[in-house]
Amino acid sequence: MTASSPTRIVALALAGALVAASLAEAAPAAAAPPRPNTFCAGTADINAALITSAVNLGSCAIQSRRIVLMRSDGKSGPAVDVPPPGRTIGNETLTTSGEYSLRVTNNDGMVSVTTEVPGAVRTLAPATDAACGEGAYNLEGGRWTRTLKWFYNSASAGRAGLSASATLADIRAGNTNMSTGQNNCGYATGTFSSTGAYQGTTSRYANINSSAQCTGNFPDGQNTDSWGPFDSSAAGTLAVTCYTYSGGAMTESDTYFGSNVGMVDSFPASCSGKYDLQSVSTHEWGHAFGLAHETSGTAEVMYPYSYPCALRRHLGKGDYNGMNSMY
Ligand SMILES: [Zn+2]
Repeated sequence: MTASSPTRIVALALAGALVAASLAEAAPAAAAPPRPNTFCAGTADINAALITSAVNLGSCAIQSRRIVLMRSDGKSGPAVDVPPPGRTIGNETLTTSGEYSLRVTNNDGMVSVTTEVPGAVRTLAPATDAACGEGAYNLEGGRWTRTLKWFYNSASAGRAGLSASATLADIRAGNTNMSTGQNNCGYATGTFSSTGAYQGTTSRYANINSSAQCTGNFPDGQNTDSWGPFDSSAAGTLAVTCYTYSGGAMTESDTYFGSNVGMVDSFPASCSGKYDLQSVSTHEWGHAFGLAHETSGTAEVMYPYSYPCALRRHLGKGDYNGMNSMY
């Protein structure tokens, strides 16, 4: 074989091509101007899915714009307005086919969005699940450092065909279940520092609309629970909680219970398609106190699916651990 064998010629040619390629890569690329997000201009609502990384308000002025989480059926779902600097506003929308979560944080000029949409509707048999066997939990990022003082628009219970006194009892029980850690696992109750204090009836309503969106009036300085119908865009919604915190301190939470979705004070003898108000209330208070959803414990209060004709009034291990970590 000689030095000028065909194999060596090919190798030299390849080496030359590689040098050429690396020279091309080393050439300075033309600096592409940063492309502004299409949603920065104007005043329209912003699809939460478009905000895939933190938005700098200095170059994309979306202060006070409305962020909307689109539902799987293509309708506009939960929404919140971009909060002031240093503040987070969250919306938890519980439906009969799962839960939507939308959390918007303005970290001193950088706006970020966290979302959660329902997966396949769960068909597990709830009665077979062990709420005491699994201890994972998730947090929203804020906790109460003072008593959660709340009001109830008891007159609005009539919208659901329910009595003011029975619904108040259920909602108060939900608050107590969560804040004192009622459970069936043998854990100590009444040891959390969380406290909720009912302040009486109010003529105000939760600052949440019939499309399951936190309104621009949230927060208004009062923690309010009330009833109202959900319209077709939010069909199947059981309840919505909007919460807000700053510097890790929760400062307000409102809950809107759906008056047209079959929520009841107690199940009829032959139950079908009914949802237990105290169970739903306990879940919503979990959000108000700072718990986010946890999907591994299907029998836990903070599991993001509600089952008709099933009770989820008492905390599971994960619910309890989450509250215990904050309070
Ligand atoms: Zn929830």
